Amino acid sequence: MLSEPIKKDILSYEFEELKDEIVRLGEPSFRANQIFDWLHKKRVSDFGDMTNLSAQFRNKISGLFCIKSLFALKRLASKQDNTVKYLYELDDNNRVETVMMEYEHGTSLCISTQVGCKMGCKFCASTIAGFKRNLTPGEMLMQVYETERLEARKVQSLVLMGIGEPLDNFDNVVKFLRILSDERGKNLSLRHISLSTCGIVPRIYELAELGLGLTLSVSLHAANDETRSEIMPINNRYHIEELIDACKYYFDKTGRRISYEYAVIDTVNDKRENAYELYSLLKGQNCHVNIIPVNKIKERSFTSDRKSANRFKKYLEELGINATVRRTLGSDINAACGQLRREYESQEEGDKACL
Ligand code: SAH
Repeated sequence: MLSEPIKKDILSYEFEELKDEIVRLGEPSFRANQIFDWLHKKRVSDFGDMTNLSAQFRNKISGLFCIKSLFALKRLASKQDNTVKYLYELDDNNRVETVMMEYEHGTSLCISTQVGCKMGCKFCASTIAGFKRNLTPGEMLMQVYETERLEARKVQSLVLMGIGEPLDNFDNVVKFLRILSDERGKNLSLRHISLSTCGIVPRIYELAELGLGLTLSVSLHAANDETRSEIMPINNRYHIEELIDACKYYFDKTGRRISYEYAVIDTVNDKRENAYELYSLLKGQNCHVNIIPVNKIKERSFTSDRKSANRFKKYLEELGINATVRRTLGSDINAACGQLRREYESQEEGDKACL
């Protein structure tokens, strides 16, 4: 029996790649501009709607390519602020989370880059059920496009801080960023994008070489190797010193100040001496420290609150280190990384067990 040929995911194509495909099909290259415009500016979900292409050509490309879509399984809106969180289902039934947040300077979106995560950070819900697969560039774009459509709001800035480790899906993430910042499409400035990493050192160098001008957020969470290795297994591979060297290189190369994330966890990293270690590590660096009260997740016993975070901020300020305590937007809707997906899937497992 003949099986249907697998259609190529057209949203994952950068403009130049799309142009090559179109020219290979014997069409003039401006057709690629038209298609790119329909997909990334006008956001159609059907080749039939690309009305400036002939019916014959539309037929031809729809036999070779597909326009994928996301299905919103859940929408949670915060009662405290304008934060909205979506649980999206992908076409293979995997799920990812996307969060839209409202700041004074505009609307920001936090997207996922993988289904699950291999990094194993002890306080993080995304990692509990392990890693399933990488997201394609198109699946990252769809989180932006679909949330903009459903909320009727335009995204002005983006953070790659949802489920997954973006530097563990390097090629797809870079491709996604190129499509998103393409002036023929959404045209989002790379300066308005932050990428958060647990610290995959060789990829930080690689990213610096690309010169994209992104802000790099580094999830540090501890300033000594012993504690950091305990809570973040990646630290066994790349120690703090190597990580900081890579961050300095990133700053020298791009001129973009590094933002260090520090989730305060009671009795683990919240003492004055921990603030001193952080000061010794970062002094002289042009950087910023973002303190987060660790979000409690059901499966783990780590806790902290705003009070501990503010106390830690005070310790740092006394040492002359610039720090802010991150606003905990959407805390009533479990807006932290991976919690909604985890909750939904463990409920489903429970339902299955009851059958
Ligand atoms: N893998 C990337 C990006 C995803 S996590 C990274 O490690 O940076 C986004 C941020 O949320 C990271 O700083 C991560 O350490 C933090 N995070 C994860 N779980 C958390 C929790 N329970 N409480 C507070 N911050 C958490």
